[in-house]
Amino acid sequence: MEMILFDQAFEIVLNSAFSTGTETVLFTDSLNRILAGNVVSDLDMPSFNKSSVDGFACRKADLDKELEIIETIAAGNTPVKPVSLAQCSRIMTGAPVPDGADCVIMVEDTLLTPSGKVRFKATFKKENIAIKGEDVKKGEIILKPGRIIKPQDIAVMASAGYTHATVSKKPLVGVISSGSELVEPDQFPGISQIRNSNAFQLMAQVERSGASGKYYGIATDDEDETYNIIARAISENDMVLITGGVSMGDFDFVPSVLERAGVRIQFSRVAVQPGKPTTFGIHDKAIVFGLPGNPVSSFIQFEMLVRPLIYKMMGFQCRQLNIVLPMKEMFSRKYAERMAFIPVRITNEGSVDAVEYHGSAHISAIPEADGIISLPIGIKTIEKGELVSVRQI
Ligand code: AMP
Ligand code: MG
Repeated sequence: MEMILFDQAFEIVLNSAFSTGTETVLFTDSLNRILAGNVVSDLDMPSFNKSSVDGFACRKADLDKELEIIETIAAGNTPVKPVSLAQCSRIMTGAPVPDGADCVIMVEDTLLTPSGKVRFKATFKKENIAIKGEDVKKGEIILKPGRIIKPQDIAVMASAGYTHATVSKKPLVGVISSGSELVEPDQFPGISQIRNSNAFQLMAQVERSGASGKYYGIATDDEDETYNIIARAISENDMVLITGGVSMGDFDFVPSVLERAGVRIQFSRVAVQPGKPTTFGIHDKAIVFGLPGNPVSSFIQFEMLVRPLIYKMMGFQCRQLNIVLPMKEMFSRKYAERMAFIPVRITNEGSVDAVEYHGSAHISAIPEADGIISLPIGIKTIEKGELVSVRQI
């Protein structure tokens, strides 16, 4: 199958998105989920004219007079007396402003006269009243679907009387490692063995993207064993990620096993560096990625292709994926036949510095990276100071 451009691969991947539906959860459990329904306010906010300071509610026209205190209104109390000529009510922050008053003067701006009256001693600046409905009107949509729920959204739901939130169901993602050389992290690798790092990196990337990961273990380089694990994962998930076994080696038979399992391969080579052997296919039950075995490639291809797909499936309208910053140093590469994805650090001075790594297996270099920049086909250098678009990771 021919090698395709990254943009084509991206389009094919996003076009395969299907919705995993919605579910209702306790609003206190909705943090980091994707909101899937409108949140509508059942009241005006504020729901009454509210004092925004501790002080005295009175009439602006009376600010030059000594004012008689007629009642004290605490937050949670309802005023009983209207304020009229040369009168005021002592009022606390958050309490309803009494009828008749059109301003609240702050305690700090007043004097108490020997006869127990109040005198305004400052110059008038503002009313200090939050007007009923000035923030939100009853029936107004205050949160729209497609946003990731943050603590502030949970506060908004609470204020609008929502005890539950409608959120997108988490896509179920099966993760499989392929390779006879792999051992799990609790084992010490024998000669010619390596630890399986990708599966756990992928599981963490899946969780961080808001999906739900299920790990299926290591498939050794045996066609039937690989087939059985892949077929089971496809039947149990919305998406399956297989790492390893997609290169050109004698035992890289993931693509043929995928076909045997009924997966329609859409591409198996992408003109990117790293990550060329990235494979993608569609099954009636699930979407399947064959990611390269090299940990850096697997990490980057997940970020560039899988995460956007998970977001689309959940209806997440993600803002601010890319920020534009200048390059700290010149960056150059020898060959430019493929689009390059370069892990970068964002410095405290607000510039972008390429993370040095020795190849796609140099896994310890990647934790330094805050983002990824891309270098198009045909471009070998980025000059110092040149603006680049960074996708945060
Ligand atoms: P493959 O795509 O199977 O040819 O693997 C490419 C390289 O990545 C080989 O050096 C593998 O040993 C390595 N590799 C494959 N799978 C993993 C994994 N799960 N964790 C770490 N490295 C891996
Ligand atoms: Mg392999």
